[in-house]
Amino acid sequence: MKFHTTESGAKLVTLIPGDGIGPEVVASARQIVEAAGARIEWEERQAGASVFEQGLATGVPDDTIESIRKTRVALKGPLETPVGFGEKSANVTLRKLFETYANIRPARELPGIATPYSGRGIDLVVVRENVEDLYAGIEHMQTPGVAQCLKLISRKGCEKIVRLAFELARAEGRTLVHCATKSNIMKLTEGMLKRTFEEVAPEYPEIEAQHIIIDNCAHQLVKRPEQFDVIVTTNMNGDIISDESSALVGGLGFAPSANIGTDVAIFEAVHGSAPKYAGKNVINPTALILSAVLMLRHLGEFEPAAAVEGALLATLAQGRTTRDIAGDDGSALSTTEFTEAVIGNLGEVPAGWEPRDYKPLRLPDVSTAPDFVSDPSRRVVGVDVFVESALEPQELGRSLEEKAAGTRLRLKAISNRGTRVYPPTGAMTDCIDQWFCRFTLAENGRDVEDDEIAELVRRIGSTHRWMHLEKLQEFHGEEGFTKAQGED
Ligand code: NAP
Repeated sequence: MKFHTTESGAKLVTLIPGDGIGPEVVASARQIVEAAGARIEWEERQAGASVFEQGLATGVPDDTIESIRKTRVALKGPLETPVGFGEKSANVTLRKLFETYANIRPARELPGIATPYSGRGIDLVVVRENVEDLYAGIEHMQTPGVAQCLKLISRKGCEKIVRLAFELARAEGRTLVHCATKSNIMKLTEGMLKRTFEEVAPEYPEIEAQHIIIDNCAHQLVKRPEQFDVIVTTNMNGDIISDESSALVGGLGFAPSANIGTDVAIFEAVHGSAPKYAGKNVINPTALILSAVLMLRHLGEFEPAAAVEGALLATLAQGRTTRDIAGDDGSALSTTEFTEAVIGNLGEVPAGWEPRDYKPLRLPDVSTAPDFVSDPSRRVVGVDVFVESALEPQELGRSLEEKAAGTRLRLKAISNRGTRVYPPTGAMTDCIDQWFCRFTLAENGRDVEDDEIAELVRRIGSTHRWMHLEKLQEFHGEEGFTKAQGED
């Protein structure tokens, strides 16, 4: 990634103060980074509540977008979407605009921050896919009482995140990468991350690669978190286990993050704008300072990064903390006092702290072509028609068989919420009014054609209400669809 360098040789960074406590934590991190001698210059830009209130529905003005396009690196405070302004959050807008496909969340035991895990040496990084999965936000009401959210996982998306996880392990001298999925249930979507992981792993022979089912991963994180090094996972899983990991080492006040894309990286604390503390000079700026450390490493500024990290940790180890840790006994430092304490500690490293030997992160060079996976041999072998009906399954089945009569398609099965109910299996299914009706070729023959599907749907629609179609395809002779429980 090429960074924007100013005439003085400094790297330019877009600085977004953000909302609520944002300006306070951003000011703290900025002062410390500058005091550490990092060759950084800032371009301050706005986003969030004030921008929404000026009537801009995205919450991110053009000059902020232009600045990030130019600098390719941003350090930002939390952003709010005020009630009644815009539907999309400014954070999501930024993530989508700059395709920051990886969310990186380190969790390392911090000196002086006592937790039930203190002394066990937690030091892990969650690498969460950041744009696909259920978070693509594709939702529909299929019937008045049934909602659907599409879980989209692409091979390209998997390859980018898996390669980034291994590259991160390399850059940080880590030796173990876990891939956490629910591939035992969602064989095609979650399974795609697992399969990609297994294909890519041999390219990194010095790194041990293990797959773990996500629910066990969550369990193991609580039971024995020190066993993990890097965990790569899908968006929804990562959302949950990265918060879980943060809690293991002290919680939201200590959780930094990096949103990495091929062209742009945005660094921010995990916490929000905590509006009740805004302007009170009491909050903990640690998460944003640690995010600035991640940013400095990303920019190749390894020495100032180590200096800021060392000084911050030395301050915590001295027991000098803000109110969230110190409580109300009068010993708590204000945000500005804490910032000064960290600056005063520059050059210090807490006893027993072993800094890592960081190397530049090599971003995966994955093709940007939309047809990332070349067209394989393909056959259309049927169609799933989603039907809304209050009929009993037997009655609906007989009706749909009549509709398909005389076509090359036959009703193979009707399922309700993933369980076959027609032909009956004896399962005690509590049915709802949305049926997933599978039609396949009655006899082996040429591919099912669009006109045949259209004719079948026209016939079904003359009696029943349908709302969704899905072609059944085979790729390289393998079925590109799963079977309902009880379907043969
Ligand atoms: P929040 O702002 O993270 O605050 C939740 C609680 O966490 C606070 O009340 C406080 O706990 C604690 N906390 C958070 N940051 C802290 C810090 N730096 N130091 C000490 N304690 C801290 O979550 P929220 O109240 O759900 O969200 C508020 C707004 O922020 C919302 O508008 C939300 O959309 C936005 N948000 C933005 C981002 C982002 O920009 N990336 C992320 C999350 C939320 P106590 O009350 O126990 O003291």
